[in-house]
Amino acid sequence: MNTVSVIYFLLSLVLLAERKGCNKVTTMEEEKPQLMPTKILKCRNADCKAWVREEFAVADQVCPLCKGPMIRSIKHLAKVQNKVKPKPRKPKSEF
Ligand SMILES: [Zn+2]
Repeated sequence: MNTVSVIYFLLSLVLLAERKGCNKVTTMEEEKPQLMPTKILKCRNADCKAWVREEFAVADQVCPLCKGPMIRSIKHLAKVQNKVKPKPRKPKSEF
């Protein structure tokens, strides 16, 4: 196999992959987790990316990375899924 035929072979693979991908576009949206505005504490240092959920923060929470002060903010996070499902009500007995 010379170089040109290898390139054509790879090119045909790419084109095939793209065609297959076209059919799957619509199914992606349903898998997205629902984002909810969540109260967080973020590091006041703009260069520091650290943040914690307010519900997990302690009093006088400091940045876990740079030990600096943290400020309250809102972040859009995936909704925390509660594993407990509401139990279906038992049908009332007729007797
Ligand atoms: Zn920090």
